[in-house]
Amino acid sequence: MAQQPEYVSGGRGTRRARRVYERGERIFSEGDWGGTAYIIQRGQVELTRSVGTEIARIALLDPGELFGEMALVDGRPRTANATAVDAVELLTIDRAYVEKKIAETDSLVALFMRVIMARFRDQLSRNPYSASGRVDEGGAGHVELSYADDLVRTTRRMEIDSALRQALDTSEFALFYQPIMNLHTGGLAGCEALLRWRRRGAEVTSPDQFVPLAEDTGLIVPIGEWAFGQVCRDLEVFDRTIPALDKSPLYVSVNLSGRQFQQADLVQRFQLLAAAAGADPGRIRIEVTETLLIDNPTDAKRMLKDLRTLGFKIAMDDFGTGYSSFSYLHQYPIDVLKIDRSFTSGILSDARSASIVRALVAMADSLGMAVIAEGVTDPRESEYLRRVGCQYGQGYLFSPPLPIDAFIERYGI
Ligand code: C2E
Ligand code: CA
Ligand code: CA
Repeated sequence: MAQQPEYVSGGRGTRRARRVYERGERIFSEGDWGGTAYIIQRGQVELTRSVGTEIARIALLDPGELFGEMALVDGRPRTANATAVDAVELLTIDRAYVEKKIAETDSLVALFMRVIMARFRDQLSRNPYSASGRVDEGGAGHVELSYADDLVRTTRRMEIDSALRQALDTSEFALFYQPIMNLHTGGLAGCEALLRWRRRGAEVTSPDQFVPLAEDTGLIVPIGEWAFGQVCRDLEVFDRTIPALDKSPLYVSVNLSGRQFQQADLVQRFQLLAAAAGADPGRIRIEVTETLLIDNPTDAKRMLKDLRTLGFKIAMDDFGTGYSSFSYLHQYPIDVLKIDRSFTSGILSDARSASIVRALVAMADSLGMAVIAEGVTDPRESEYLRRVGCQYGQGYLFSPPLPIDAFIERYGI
């Protein structure tokens, strides 16, 4: 019998097991469901296959060779037998690990892999001795197009990606502005810039429908840079049209994607963009999420510190939805805490949400951070927030995000 797997630690938290087989022992058989691929560490492995009533040897594998990978990748049954020729030691790679890696890879690369795999199996089913003399335990018989769904999804993503690239060139992006109100004075304190795609011949598209894709492909970097530059230019427009109601002049918040931290010269680029538009960095708030900080811990800390040194303010967005580790609040240079709307919407009906909001307000206050409650939709929520000391609110109660002209019309002189 094969020994129980002995786990050895692989890279990046994976676990790879070492298994030992005795001479003549079967490793897997035709028809088995394959959840494992193997790399031979010691000994030889013979792959055989039934051809009619005969058993034919299709390969004799030596240390360093890989087998069992096809069933692992495409989840189809084994169509070869693998047997230990002598005492064999194998390193195993399990399906969960490979699936995770495939899910993380570029969808086009994953699709290519599936298409090649299906074609290879198709070829094997026609000629079991084909394919460069080395045949894996590939699936014989009818090959269905198991990648048809992937193909539709990938094609759709590629279409959106190409349309997004074009949208940058043809200025189809716009920023809508949503007011942030001072709950104590009732005056306008600032606004958040929210990206919209005014796609030709289509309705205005929300960021939820294209930002995740743009983050995957990296296109969010030039899009985010455009948004930042536009905010800097729009500040000057606001100065001409909107009075400084809340004592200090209006500020604008802009969302930053984690991908943008991968741009080594992000800080200098933002500095130049602000300078070119004559915008005061003190009136620009950069909104980051916890996920963004977790994904880029070192770069993010350094860049946020540098941005702050230049005078920009940093806001922690959607607070309470991520890992909500309070350690971020003192580790990172945060000026503003934005309480996620899932808490705001619960304060009237759910005592726990109300307590969390009160605790966050008290904590932010003691750390010297301003607090903005997101998603305020009811005047009673606004009143409650004001009573517990939350100074700022944002939400449909005050206004949805508006095109800049509509925003100025509403809040301008
Ligand atoms: P976010 O940064 O949390 O922005 C707030 C979202 O909540 C906006 O959705 C806003 O329209 C919506 N909202 C505001 N008040 C209410 C309310 O009272 N109730 C409800 N249900 N929703 C409210 P939007 O504009 O669709 O943006 C969605 C997300 O897309 C943003 O969430 C942000 O994560 C991302 N996003 C938007 N613009 C940009 C951008 O320029 N760059 C990047 N990287 N992401 C952006
Ligand atoms: Ca935001
Ligand atoms: Ca938010």
